Amino acid sequence: QLAHMGTLPAMAADRYEDKTAFSFMGSEQSFRELEEEANSVANVLVDHGVAPGDRVGLFVPNTTQFPPAHFGIIKAGAVSTPLNLRMDPETLAYVIEDAGIETMIASAFLADEAKELAAAADVETLFLPGVADEEAGIVNYSHATMDADDEFEPIERDPDDVCIQPYTSGTTGRPKGVLLSHRNVLTTLESYGKGGLAIDADDSILLVLPMFHIYALNALLGIFTYRGGTMVLQPEPDPVNMLTAIDEHEITMFAGVPALYTMMFREYRENPGEYDLSSLRNVICAAAPLAEEVRRQIEDAWNVPVVEGWGMTETGPAGTVEPFNGVRKEAGCVGPPLPGVELKLVDTATRETKIAPEDIDPFPDPEIDFDDDEAVTGELAIRGPMVFEGYHDRPGKTEQVFDDEGWFYTEDVARIDEDGYFWIVDRADDMIITGGNNVYPAEVEDVLYEHPDVAEAAVVAAPHDVKGEAPVAFVVPEADTDVAEDEIRSFALERVATYAHPRRVFVVDELPRSATQKVQRYVLEADVEDRLE
Ligand code: ATP
Ligand code: MG
Repeated sequence: QLAHMGTLPAMAADRYEDKTAFSFMGSEQSFRELEEEANSVANVLVDHGVAPGDRVGLFVPNTTQFPPAHFGIIKAGAVSTPLNLRMDPETLAYVIEDAGIETMIASAFLADEAKELAAAADVETLFLPGVADEEAGIVNYSHATMDADDEFEPIERDPDDVCIQPYTSGTTGRPKGVLLSHRNVLTTLESYGKGGLAIDADDSILLVLPMFHIYALNALLGIFTYRGGTMVLQPEPDPVNMLTAIDEHEITMFAGVPALYTMMFREYRENPGEYDLSSLRNVICAAAPLAEEVRRQIEDAWNVPVVEGWGMTETGPAGTVEPFNGVRKEAGCVGPPLPGVELKLVDTATRETKIAPEDIDPFPDPEIDFDDDEAVTGELAIRGPMVFEGYHDRPGKTEQVFDDEGWFYTEDVARIDEDGYFWIVDRADDMIITGGNNVYPAEVEDVLYEHPDVAEAAVVAAPHDVKGEAPVAFVVPEADTDVAEDEIRSFALERVATYAHPRRVFVVDELPRSATQKVQRYVLEADVEDRLE
């Protein structure tokens, strides 16, 4: 039983020794090397005055530099704060200042950006491989870690002390710093291991989702380190490289977000017979709504079930996962709660309970008794040792999302079915109220994705004189096709309630996406007002 996240690599080194932990561009790193390098990093940080509780920024893509740096920071008793490389410099500077980062570890691939950022956000010590500049506070990271002792006893921390401070994706506004304790993260790993993600040492994953985001950080890097699976790292989501790596490394597990699957599938379909993906056993999709059309195409072509999971930065991200061998459902179903996770559905406005946790039997025999046959929809609330300690420096927001009994109200709307499986409907705040009717944008988007010429779709509210607001759509056409606004509108009108169909359809080249590739509806909503003026 681990109590300190910093002891995870030592446990993995004991168990899995010289087995390959990471493979990156032809070079390999074993679990033992991970432990030793993480120790060197911890020694370097302590030598440079990093104290327990200090936030250390990580500005590193998916390379073998990331994992030892991350665990080294935690061993030193400090708080690993991975920075989202896809954020614009202004938002990044905001995050660095918000977190109070004075020490930052950066990648040589990002040397210029790192220097600019460090200067803009008053970072005192910047660790950069191969570069030293005392005046600018830049320390040569490769020299320092090479010279450092590769043994280190993790600095004692309480299970309740914070060890990771990731930021949310910024899908609905400014990213928020999330305080995750040792207990939060370790129970997340255990919960996935006992539930849907029973990975073992024979598994290998193509780790292309960025490790700076909670999904890859804990649910992939964390779990695979915990259970000894091999991770093939790729820093950029290039469809040809991803499909080639699955084929060549005989990858057994792939984890993605909907935008990645769309991108990969396009390449796969255009080059029939080019990629052998028969090694894949587990394919996971999470983080954003997956369209049924996309799910079906992939399952048919790759002959492997696509299981969905739901989670948040705030939940570490343990929440739900469809069991690999469970009942197959359509897209949008994210499965039962993971072991140790309590869920309930409440009225969005009053927080009155609609489905209580005791109504839901957990995995592996999720079952639920309904008073009637109706599926129940409500805001999802979650409780358990994986749920975060609060937002960094936002006491008002923290107070608003928790109640006195420790329930965290997620602002996500979900539905539960008679098997005890949850379905993510949409974000509560994105619901469109049109002439007294409630419309969830994701339901309309799902229909738009069924149109053969639509590659991507997003639905948002536009002001409406009579109805208050009404849905409008943004669509990105498939390559080399033209889509006509009228055609898309009538296509939708045939498939959704009249009040729910998009009154206008704007054809665009791309959708605004957050740094984790989720569609930022709030950006489109501002855009609509300009377009309708
Ligand atoms: P921010 O909080 O900064 O606006 P964000 O909510 O996107 O950004 P994350 O913590 O990365 O930040 O994402 C969590 C959210 O992602 C959930 O609250 C939910 O809305 C969405 N999500 C997660 N999994 C799924 C899923 N399987 N299907 C649909 N939506 C999902
Ligand atoms: Mg959020």
